[in-house]
Amino acid sequence: MLVFEFKAYGKPKQFSAIDEALRTVQFIRNKALRFWMDGLGKTQYDLNKYCAVLAKEFPFCNELNSMARQASAERAWSAITNARCSTWGNPKTALARFYDSCKKQIPLKKGFPQFQKNNRSVEYKSSGWKLADNRKSITFTDKKRIGTLKLKGTRDLHFYQPDQIKRVRLVKRADGYYVQFCVSVDRTESVEVTGTAIGLDVGLNDFYTDSNNQKIENPRFLAQGERRLKMAQKRVAKRVKGSKNRRKARQILGKRHLKISRQRKDHAVKLARCVITSNDVVAYEDLRIKNMVRNHCLAKSINDASWYQFRVWLEYFGKVFGKITIAVTPNGTSQECSSCKTVVKKGLSTRTHICRCGCVLGRDHNAARNILSRGLATVGHTGSYGLEACNAWGEDTATHVGASLHEQVTS
Ligand SMILES: [Zn+2]
Repeated sequence: MLVFEFKAYGKPKQFSAIDEALRTVQFIRNKALRFWMDGLGKTQYDLNKYCAVLAKEFPFCNELNSMARQASAERAWSAITNARCSTWGNPKTALARFYDSCKKQIPLKKGFPQFQKNNRSVEYKSSGWKLADNRKSITFTDKKRIGTLKLKGTRDLHFYQPDQIKRVRLVKRADGYYVQFCVSVDRTESVEVTGTAIGLDVGLNDFYTDSNNQKIENPRFLAQGERRLKMAQKRVAKRVKGSKNRRKARQILGKRHLKISRQRKDHAVKLARCVITSNDVVAYEDLRIKNMVRNHCLAKSINDASWYQFRVWLEYFGKVFGKITIAVTPNGTSQECSSCKTVVKKGLSTRTHICRCGCVLGRDHNAARNILSRGLATVGHTGSYGLEACNAWGEDTATHVGASLHEQVTS
């Protein structure tokens, strides 16, 4: 599944119609959840049927396209299943992940499904919208009176037929409204074999150091953005609750968030694509967000988030280009000697690895070499699990990383 995104242009009246649709989605989702809590609906099918009841009872529900109504009830269902058996993170995600995480026995976070307060998207399936022939505008045909929105963004949608578009999503963000098209294609591309394998060590000072002692610097814009984010956060905290100024400050904070997450994604995508296309095997540390304890060090926190996203994209491009990506256990990679494998204890501040066997390397360089050799020792069997390449939209682009490794094992 590919996602194409466009910024939507229209009249204020149309945007308030979108807001109305967003509220309706939230209403249906929460109603369906309540229906389930009261023990009246037990299956996803029950919740779907309940949509028709709501449509009869509430005119504003009837105004929303029937499939969009159902999609809202499906959200309630996935909130329920996710709460029962949840991986970290996004409660909006599909049932697929639920089953996936059960199968792979990822530790569960117990919880109860929550009512939603700030819904920001509405999802249409095959009906309720019509794309113009020139692909420059979209018309929503249900009774919410959203009407025709002009689209600005990528031209890539021209390459696909309308029946390949499986879902259309309207998304509200801090800086406006967006239309996303989910197109069903299995994306694979071929590149020439490079004959190289590489190990990557994440660092504090550099974004990563590879096993050939190449260093990629931390992008400066991220640190800068993060600082501005902190400032905006402080400003919100200082304003009186419920005041106009607080609302304004919150809007600014929202925009900064959006900006930094776009920059981070952009950086991760470009770098990951480059690493994958110029190597056949890429090994890296199996760092998970869950294990990255909250810390007060600014540089570290930026790195954690960026590195994690970088990893997800590495695995995504690994699948696209048919390359091998291996996550290895990170324990002790910096302590071991990459030549003779003896343990050479060193503190965090020791930047050089010096071993009795005569091996002298930069600390990170040594670690990267260890990561590569661990990776090569376990090719095809390592800790990739069903991470999804969540792009900055926070929506899925259906990339099961585990699946790619599996294919590589069998081929
Ligand atoms: Zn040694």
